Amino acid sequence: MNESKMEIITEQIIQAFVEHKRLFLVFDRDGTLVPYTEDPKHAILADSVRKILNKLAAQNNISIGILSARGLKQLRRDFYDGMQILAGNSGLEIQKQKQLTRRHPAAVAARDMLREAKIHLEEEILPSFPSILEDHGLSLCLHWQRTPIAFRPDLFKQLDLIRLKLPGLHFKEMPTSFEIWPAIEWDKACGLKEMLQILNLKAEETALLYAGDTEADLPALDFVKSKNGITIQIGRTSSDEHFHLESPQELHELLRKLESKLVPKQAI
Ligand SMILES: [Mg+2]
Repeated sequence: MNESKMEIITEQIIQAFVEHKRLFLVFDRDGTLVPYTEDPKHAILADSVRKILNKLAAQNNISIGILSARGLKQLRRDFYDGMQILAGNSGLEIQKQKQLTRRHPAAVAARDMLREAKIHLEEEILPSFPSILEDHGLSLCLHWQRTPIAFRPDLFKQLDLIRLKLPGLHFKEMPTSFEIWPAIEWDKACGLKEMLQILNLKAEETALLYAGDTEADLPALDFVKSKNGITIQIGRTSSDEHFHLESPQELHELLRKLESKLVPKQAI
């Protein structure tokens, strides 16, 4: 890792914190804090990372947020002891200090349809096409990369038929999965704005950082950038708009640096 780049990012964060006196660091989960695994249930947050984030969140005027496509249930498992603000389903459900603070009413209203979609997928997709179905509570995710290439056109045709039966849901095509969502206008920038509102923070008056790794993170990255915040893209990218770290491991290194600068020595 380029040590000077790490120093530059750390210094920018510290400087922005000194300037605004309030720091809000927000992280995507998979591919950002947690390395990908073939089966998403094996992608586990490292204990050491959880501890650093807990220590940072315990400091005055520092807030830590997690903004993930996964459900709140998973984020609660990750941060069972933490003071983070957790936003599951890209912010359709948010909890602060272990209390559920907000659940998007339209997403709650779409639950019956999601249940129906789950039944269709379990009966019509899973037995014929090797894939993994994740239930995030307010959304579903079907990972199809285990389906051999030759069978994928049939899989997509089958999914199309299910889609036609459920017009109240939105099927988002991702590189190796389909995310099935309530058909509402929502992205991670919306989730991030909700988090700021719940914490009573104004983006312009806060040292704001967002780190994420996929296209789904771009709205949040662009929003933070537009507020002169600090943005980090993890993994492959051709953009030079944001800072770039190679992997979750590099982000962990940055977190350790921040811990050494922001957490008093006796607490480390
Ligand atoms: Mg991600």
